[in-house]
Amino acid sequence: MKTLLRSKYLGIVALFAILFMGYGCVNDTQSSNGGGNGFEYDHQQNPGLSANDLLSDESFSELIVEIDYMPGFAPNTRALDSLKTFLEQRLNKSTVTILEPTQIPSGEQNSYSANDVRNIENEYRNNFSEEGVLSTYLVITDGYYSQQNVLGIAYFNTSNAFFGPAYDDASTGFGSLTRYQVEAISLRHEFGHLFGLVNVPNSGTDMQTNHQDEQNGSHCDNESCLMYYAMQRSDLIEQLFNDESIPALDANCIADLQANGGK
Ligand SMILES: [Zn+2]
Ligand SMILES: [Zn+2]
Repeated sequence: MKTLLRSKYLGIVALFAILFMGYGCVNDTQSSNGGGNGFEYDHQQNPGLSANDLLSDESFSELIVEIDYMPGFAPNTRALDSLKTFLEQRLNKSTVTILEPTQIPSGEQNSYSANDVRNIENEYRNNFSEEGVLSTYLVITDGYYSQQNVLGIAYFNTSNAFFGPAYDDASTGFGSLTRYQVEAISLRHEFGHLFGLVNVPNSGTDMQTNHQDEQNGSHCDNESCLMYYAMQRSDLIEQLFNDESIPALDANCIADLQANGGK
């Protein structure tokens, strides 16, 4: 119900979002038509607008994650386990199900824009929310994002895209992170944006303490936090670590999620 009300103001939200979120891996939408099998749920709203539905168990007690990937970029199994653990830690859901990843044909492009990945979703997404079950979608492409050093983007309220060649860049070369680390961090980081981090307009995930990185859009100012802007960047991410760890959300980010129904 809250979401339906919010969608009425989407035009205004989109305008403000464009003004304030010029940088980063949260990408705003212009359209907002629903897609759903009888059950009314709009999956084409801006990232962050389903934050409360994701975090709390008020409207949805179960979560599904659908994954499509282009040839050569099947997701790392350990990274998917890590994503599942993260979702179970932070969301008030009785079950979190990551569906078996499905290969889709190559889009045969060197790079994909946010609109390109929206079109891919329109063509290949199979799972939509039902009574009590919230569905999310992610796609891994065989080309870069328009901005080559970006690992992933949140582009709809329940959708993220990841860019295989940027994963390659971040996980090859001397001193680089492992493939598992790159993918696990990237998957977790973009879901963090869907949860409304940091300070995403109209997500309901309001900052309990001011911790937004003013220079880098919807990101946290703590460089050891999962939501630090460099976590999404293939050219910067390896400078942040020297071990096998996956960065956690810091106390400020967790407090924001808990104030909007999360754990
Ligand atoms: Zn980001
Ligand atoms: Zn943080």
